[in-house]
Amino acid sequence: MGNKMKNTVLVVEDEHDIRELLEYNLTRDGFNVRAVETGEQALSAVTTMPPDLILLDLMLPGIDGLQVCRRLKSDAATANIPILMLTAKDEETDVVTGLELGADDYVTKPFSPKVVVARARAVLRRLSEPVHGEDEVLNFDQMTIHPGRHEVLVDGKLIDLTNSEFRILHHMARRPGWVFTRYQLVDAVHGEKHAVSDRSVDVMIVGLRRKLNDCGNYIETVRGVGYRFRT
Ligand code: CA
Repeated sequence: MGNKMKNTVLVVEDEHDIRELLEYNLTRDGFNVRAVETGEQALSAVTTMPPDLILLDLMLPGIDGLQVCRRLKSDAATANIPILMLTAKDEETDVVTGLELGADDYVTKPFSPKVVVARARAVLRRLSEPVHGEDEVLNFDQMTIHPGRHEVLVDGKLIDLTNSEFRILHHMARRPGWVFTRYQLVDAVHGEKHAVSDRSVDVMIVGLRRKLNDCGNYIETVRGVGYRFRT
């Protein structure tokens, strides 16, 4: 008792300097760290000893990061291990793909190791928090969301939202801090395989922000990727 349980993190990164930097900083922050260089090594490391979190570089020789992500998320034994992607600046399309495959978050290179450590902690913290139930009333400073009544109040005043606007807002507000791609938001509103364009999500967000007034800034744009409800 009294011993803080150490989280194990698997770092998958082919660049030696970055791998060492992450190993050093994560270890110093109290993680048990294992580090590998390739996708193949990552898959076998996860199978032999599942970590609590994976830091996954996307650009790897051989099996790349997205393929590693796809394999882990499609296997029930490994699907629940959170993945924090490490990406280059011009890899926004891959970030979107990764998030839709089930990765939890991403950090863009070049990064400060402090930011990576903070993100890793944030992912683990968010996963340990219970997700708000479908019908649970959500209270924020000036805003209240009543799922049962399909109502949003800002400063006590009822906001007139369309059904789609309400569902998008509610979907994000249930998981503050998580990044959602446009496609994931379309899914949330219309169910899977619905033919709604990415653009229509942007239009709905514009409408939502306008109607929410001051509370519109709860909805953050994550450039090139999607949206997130501010924590
Ligand atoms: Ca790389």
